[in-house]
Amino acid sequence: MIHEYPAYYTEFRCIGGKCKDSCCISWELDIDDETYEYYKSVQGEFGDRLRRSMNNDDGNTFVLCDDGRCPFLNKENLCDIYTELGEASLCNVCTEFPRSHETIGDYTRSDVGLSCPEAARLIITGDINYVTHIDKYDSGERLNRSDKKRLKTILAIKDGLIDYIESDMYDEAGIPPAGKADSTKEGTDNSSWKTKANTMVKYVEKWQLQWNDEDYKKIDAKIDAKIDAKIDSKRGNNSGLKEEPEEKISTHEKRLDMLDIIEKLELLDDTLASWAKKYKELYDETSWSEFVRERGSLYDVWMEKIMAYYIFRYMIRAYYDNNIQTKIDMAVYSCSVIECVDYVRWLENGRCFQVEDMIDIARKYAKEIEHSEENLEYIEEEFLFAGV
Ligand code: SF4
Repeated sequence: MIHEYPAYYTEFRCIGGKCKDSCCISWELDIDDETYEYYKSVQGEFGDRLRRSMNNDDGNTFVLCDDGRCPFLNKENLCDIYTELGEASLCNVCTEFPRSHETIGDYTRSDVGLSCPEAARLIITGDINYVTHIDKYDSGERLNRSDKKRLKTILAIKDGLIDYIESDMYDEAGIPPAGKADSTKEGTDNSSWKTKANTMVKYVEKWQLQWNDEDYKKIDAKIDAKIDAKIDSKRGNNSGLKEEPEEKISTHEKRLDMLDIIEKLELLDDTLASWAKKYKELYDETSWSEFVRERGSLYDVWMEKIMAYYIFRYMIRAYYDNNIQTKIDMAVYSCSVIECVDYVRWLENGRCFQVEDMIDIARKYAKEIEHSEENLEYIEEEFLFAGV
């Protein structure tokens, strides 16, 4: 069994009462059947409280308080079930969150979700370091030859894209190269995260066509040769790309299209929609260019880590829907929306932007988008026809 996870997956520890935005607020909390039966059997006053607080009208859930809090989340933001009955008594969702796993054949991906503030801090500020661990146990699922080939190619695509994102992230001294983001006017933004995003979108467009023809060998050969925007621009057609990657995601009009999608999503509250609205109201070309110039090269590193997070987490789903392109589009879309909100925050902060701002915005974005399959599907469907 191949088990792959980022280094921050094992570093993650819930910070409990110190958490700025507990995962026990706003979301419907599903209780697995085994735990539900156990909670029903708990004796005494606490057992009565458990039974009063559960609902099984449409699956087993906790009945949230009017303010959206879990009924067992106390004033100190600590869990009363944990305190009364111990950690082993938590339902699967509460034990696992923000960890997530996906198993196909003998491969399992594990990571932690960007929507958790502590996980977001690790994802954005920690090392990008993916660990492949070979476990002795067997998943029990056998793939046929063709599915094995598809899975291998998807994993190779994911690895190729993440390797490319990680390239030139830091110099030999561990510092992001200076002067990455030196845009002077709208449309000429060559921040490294955008150059990489544009290059990846182009590569994946090509790979999607080869994937549709089941020409996996061509994709593998290109990944082996490494993705590189500079080499591609020199090599022209030999690179497998017809032309140098064009700037697809950096114009105001493109960003407006992306933000329009937000209005059509099911959102937990109006935070994301109001940020999108503010971007539309506050945008002006001169300020945007200043934001891109002033935010510093570490900003590119944070964005690149978020892109890597989305690719690592969602590329594997292409195994089921055969759509590798919408997975890279989703990663680029997420970073583009986050960038718009970052601009608003930068303006509101008096033209200052810190890593705490990035962590806060990225995790709020992820909380809205990633915890709704409908939202994820809606966004992917938009890209299916329009691209980023
Ligand atoms: S959101 Fe993360 S850090 Fe906060 S309580 Fe939940 S698991 Fe812990």
